[in-house]
Amino acid sequence: MPGDYSKVYTLQLDRGRQSSLLRHHPWIFSGAIKRVQGLPEPGATVRVTDSGGNFQAWAAWSPSSQIRARVWSFTESEAIDADFFRRRIRQACQRRAGLLGQAERNACRLIFAESDGLPGLIVDRYADYLSCQFLTTGVEYWKQEIVAALAEEIQAWCECQGIYERSDVSVRAREGLPQQKGVLWGKEPPALLEINEAGRRIAVSLCHGHKTGFYLDQYDNREIIRQLSSGRSVLNCFSYTGSFALAALQGNARQVLNIDSSAPALDLAEHNRELNQFAASQWEQIGGNVFEVLRDLQESGRQFDLIILDPPKFADTRSQLNKAARAYKDIALQAAALLTPGGLLATFSCSGAVEQGLFQKITADALLDAGREGQILRFLQQAEDHPVALPFPEAFYLKGLLCRVD
Ligand code: SAH
Repeated sequence: MPGDYSKVYTLQLDRGRQSSLLRHHPWIFSGAIKRVQGLPEPGATVRVTDSGGNFQAWAAWSPSSQIRARVWSFTESEAIDADFFRRRIRQACQRRAGLLGQAERNACRLIFAESDGLPGLIVDRYADYLSCQFLTTGVEYWKQEIVAALAEEIQAWCECQGIYERSDVSVRAREGLPQQKGVLWGKEPPALLEINEAGRRIAVSLCHGHKTGFYLDQYDNREIIRQLSSGRSVLNCFSYTGSFALAALQGNARQVLNIDSSAPALDLAEHNRELNQFAASQWEQIGGNVFEVLRDLQESGRQFDLIILDPPKFADTRSQLNKAARAYKDIALQAAALLTPGGLLATFSCSGAVEQGLFQKITADALLDAGREGQILRFLQQAEDHPVALPFPEAFYLKGLLCRVD
């Protein structure tokens, strides 16, 4: 039972493996553990000590994962109870006060897991609903307390109607948890919920959309694309529900073309175009595989002034790096061949395993093979409501390059 302190479990770290925790990295791998006293149930709080037995952290126990424990707190006097979660949730909201208070924007990430001191918990606000993911045993164990605290704390910022769970993700299996989805509190969200994103009207499906419903992490980059689009023809690859195309037209793009392999995503994109009253004549869509459609577009002699490449995660793990690198390179190469001289390429990778330096190299190789010279105008990254806690570089997953291609 959460809050039951009749038992204190202790996890002692191995002397040679404790340095990352001492630098406040929140993950404890199975190989770093010297011994565990007692038999904690999944999600229970364990007292973490260094090899000398000195307190270092309170953490959530996760017996089936390689990441055997995740830190809640490095403060010995801080009890891990309902109040702890309320404080962390309040703090996460206060950190985003500037975003939550904006009249022209009613969707953003509220809680970004480790970066907000709540490993395994993702909470996104979409207008008057919250959509969340409970990814680890620790947050699963405290779910009731977390949901109650969320429902209360969010009232300071909006009239929350409901909290929906989208824990239908495969990573839960690593924690020994089943996939789950449904209403956790309040009302069921409408099938399509409309959000306002810097004046763009966007319909989001909390029940069926990707992640918690939508790609909030690209907000800052959509704003950049909006600023760059005036008078340009824009090719939006891996368009999903068309958010970059909407930003481009808001910024007075001449023409946009969306490519995605998902027919429902393209249907929703079309719906979003209508919501924003953008002219059908400025909006084209192609349903298909980007790798093939880019080649077809070359054959038909099409050219674009601005191309966006925002593919799904090509590498889940380091073992998939080579294959992922080839895929990132191929689309950048094909895109470069479609760019007008002086055109812009915004290319992204949301694979955490692909580091910034490698992504830059892949893009450089692609332009070299395309026989084009390029310059990086901006290094792009995930939006500021997806911050990276300094001791936890793993939180930096979305990276991109804005290049001018001569
Ligand atoms: N840019 C979008 C998010 C893209 S998510 C946004 O800002 O909202 C990745 C999208 O790529 C998904 O919609 C998925 O349907 C699509 N996709 C995945 N593989 C594809 C492929 N080979 N060809 C075309 N689309 C693909």
